[in-house]
Amino acid sequence: MTQVVPDITLVRGDITEQHADAIVNAANSSLLGGGGVDGAIHRRGGPEILAECRALRASHYGKGLPTGAAVATTAGRLHAAHVIHTVGPVWSREEDRSALLASCHREALKVADQLGARTVAFPAISTGAYGWPMADAARIAVEAVRDANTHVEEVRFVLFDEEAYRAFAERIRSS
Ligand code: ADP
Repeated sequence: MTQVVPDITLVRGDITEQHADAIVNAANSSLLGGGGVDGAIHRRGGPEILAECRALRASHYGKGLPTGAAVATTAGRLHAAHVIHTVGPVWSREEDRSALLASCHREALKVADQLGARTVAFPAISTGAYGWPMADAARIAVEAVRDANTHVEEVRFVLFDEEAYRAFAERIRSS
């Protein structure tokens, strides 16, 4: 199969309302739920997602999912076939963790390819509780998707507020 460069689309809204083949979760390494996107996905998707996360913790990911890695579960009641959980880096002033944030996008798309997913919705990973400045996160996310070697046809960034939407729109326009 030939490689497809994904179309990047932007939506302002709640990622748990999206219809897509896969929805990416900005998880934490415990895989056992948290706030922000993670909490919303588990609330709306129902207990099946957490049950699969627990099974992953009991098998492959006894120590948790490493930062920058990605793994899939069911999407439960969400309008998607899969949730792809990835753990963004916590932003640091002292240390450049950009490669890990890029890795989240690359690894999530790799998992999407393994699942045969063609439309994938991403939140602005690391920009909430993990404190990453929005414009910089947008730059890293958009570059990582553009550089990814993937069969995914649409990457949809679902931005929760106007600031996030503007940052991603600006990045797409200027690159
Ligand atoms: P992280 O821990 O990776 O920073 P968060 O979930 O705290 O993840 O936040 C990531 C981004 O997702 C933030 O910009 C936040 O405003 C946004 N966000 C929170 N809830 C939702 C939602 N339901 N849909 C889309 N984006 C959301």
